[in-house]
Amino acid sequence: MFDTILIANRGEIACRVIETAQSMGVRCVAVYSDADAAAKHVQMADAAVHIGGSAPAESYLRGDAIIQAARETGAQGIHPGYGFLSENPDFVDAVAAAGLTFIGPSAEAIRAMGLKDAAKALMVEAGVPVVPGYHGADQDDALLAKEAEKIGYPVLIKAVAGGGGKGMRLVEDANGFQAGLESARSEARTAFGNADVLVEKFITQPRHIEVQVFGDGTKVVHLFERDCSLQRRHQKVIEEAPAPGMTPQMRAAMGAAAVRAAEAIGYAGAGTVEFIVDGSRGLSSDGFFFMEMNTRLQVEHPVTEAITGVDLVEWQLRVAAGEPLPAAQEDLSITGHAFEARLYAEDVPKGFLPATGTLTDLRFAPDARADSGVRAGDVISPFYDPMIAKVIVHGATRDVALSKLRRALRTCHVGGTVTNLAFLGALAAHEGFRRGEVDTGLIARDIETLTEVPAPAPRHVALAGMAALDLLEPRGETGFTLWEPLLRSITLRFGGEEHLLKVRVLGPDHQKWILGDAEIDAVRRGADWIIGGQRAATVAAVQGVITVFDHYGLIFEVVDPLERAAGMAGDGNLVEAPMPGAVRLVAAEVGQVVAQGDRLAVLEAMKMEHALLAARDGVVAEVLVAVGDQVEAGAALVRLEAEA
Ligand code: ADP
Ligand code: ADP
Ligand code: MG
Repeated sequence: MFDTILIANRGEIACRVIETAQSMGVRCVAVYSDADAAAKHVQMADAAVHIGGSAPAESYLRGDAIIQAARETGAQGIHPGYGFLSENPDFVDAVAAAGLTFIGPSAEAIRAMGLKDAAKALMVEAGVPVVPGYHGADQDDALLAKEAEKIGYPVLIKAVAGGGGKGMRLVEDANGFQAGLESARSEARTAFGNADVLVEKFITQPRHIEVQVFGDGTKVVHLFERDCSLQRRHQKVIEEAPAPGMTPQMRAAMGAAAVRAAEAIGYAGAGTVEFIVDGSRGLSSDGFFFMEMNTRLQVEHPVTEAITGVDLVEWQLRVAAGEPLPAAQEDLSITGHAFEARLYAEDVPKGFLPATGTLTDLRFAPDARADSGVRAGDVISPFYDPMIAKVIVHGATRDVALSKLRRALRTCHVGGTVTNLAFLGALAAHEGFRRGEVDTGLIARDIETLTEVPAPAPRHVALAGMAALDLLEPRGETGFTLWEPLLRSITLRFGGEEHLLKVRVLGPDHQKWILGDAEIDAVRRGADWIIGGQRAATVAAVQGVITVFDHYGLIFEVVDPLERAAGMAGDGNLVEAPMPGAVRLVAAEVGQVVAQGDRLAVLEAMKMEHALLAARDGVVAEVLVAVGDQVEAGAALVRLEAEA
């Protein structure tokens, strides 16, 4: 076994590898970029080497710097994780040339599977069924169009060098072929520097079913299948193992085909053979086609670990260290069912826009496996994919596992950033998914309902207000009495909508909240607040962002009073206090000519100073407050002369 290995990756997969390696007594060296100097994977490792700037090209994609780090720290092997250099055969060659072991397949095996057309040709030779289509070298337009006609529309044009769903175009009929061809080619040229394409039959109700394989360079075993049909724009969202509706016959046929595919290239280590299945015909032993092979550990490998009891990273280390395959095919079996959901910092209503931010809270259900590369307090930076964690559950049956997934998602606490949790929760509760009726079009068909933003209930809004105004805990000897005479107010924003809240503090254990026409009581019972008759959820407030941990995390923002001062409605002549506070400074004088944006007064509220600015050019008619005055929200501070 290795004494020391280096992990050429970051985030959850680096942490995942370190965990197993250390449990086997192997010393782990991490590498890190500027942005990751204090990252979890660096902290977990036994040693860490800084390899460059935050952009992947300046660090995690720098094979030379990584190999040098391995040499300097005495590492004998390099684990590539997934992404980055994991499928780069030149890196594998460089690792070997440096006298180190690449913990993964050979450069030849990676090259053989690197281009989709060559891989398909190889698979035909090995007797593995492929999607009917054309994958020849001749790239003449007219020839490709004729081949498409032969295959029969609809067809899919794919970049031979493609990955991540790029360079792929669906063409419905002959009229659209030329345009589809040109756009697939141009995307492929930009993304991969290779404009070659293949044309294949478009499977209309496709299921993505892949087989986990493991080889020692000669012999290959399979660890059954995963269903990854729940995809959004060709990206996997929730994966499961085994595949719903799988029959023993089809499993045996797919497993045998995957083993043939891997043995054909002398595969060593963990790999995945991806198949597409025509769901409209149900699952049958002759209804699956080879799509591609991923020559690395896959993001969704934990569902396979959950149903087989195998630690795939342990197997990777043992086989790379020269041991034979740890198990024979007949030793492997399936126990129960597993799901994985990919939790991201994403703004779902804004089209799944990657989000950034500081994670103020991070808590997972205790009976779920959470593979994560971040901790509470960590920053989701814009340099890498915004994955927060993979949430993995296992149960005796698919129904039990799915219930556990729903519960795990419900009880997951992520504070400080928007997430796709509500979307994952809606998906986990989807009726068709529950029945196992999955295909790659499911998410797109139901995207509207899956991404509906729930309106927060009044008790959630009131709770957010309590956190924002620091009214959850009594302060000082007098409790809340300081505020008793005041009607305080605050504006919170939830998903673009503003909520004006008012509160009357009736004592340390009782507050009356007014939300529009509705009134709701907050009453303290022991350590809990009961709001509108229901026990309040946990809540976190950091820098004006309030997260209420209910409904997958409801995020409120405290509306910046400055923003409001500028757009103040009502009497355009008045400058009003946006919130209760103490007047700290009065800059305006009667008769003074002011310009839009001039500072007229400063209010101290919520432990911050807020400048109140003139919303327009004008002349000060009246100054209605003095320094030291305590004012309520909406109090008039300065009046400008009416405009002519
Ligand atoms: P899977 O089929 O396991 O989801 P993908 O092919 O989508 O695998 O990629 C695996 C992971 O690697 C993804 O999280 C993706 O963001 C990341 N990744 C893929 N290519 C690169 C790359 N060139 N550089 C950095 N990360 C990458
Ligand atoms: P990539 O290298 O970008 O991952 P793949 O060939 O693995 O490309 O295809 C990605 C996804 O596109 C699949 O998971 C599937 O959802 C869809 N897809 C691929 N080929 C077909 C096909 N022939 N018919 C229908 N859908 C397909
Ligand atoms: Mg793929």
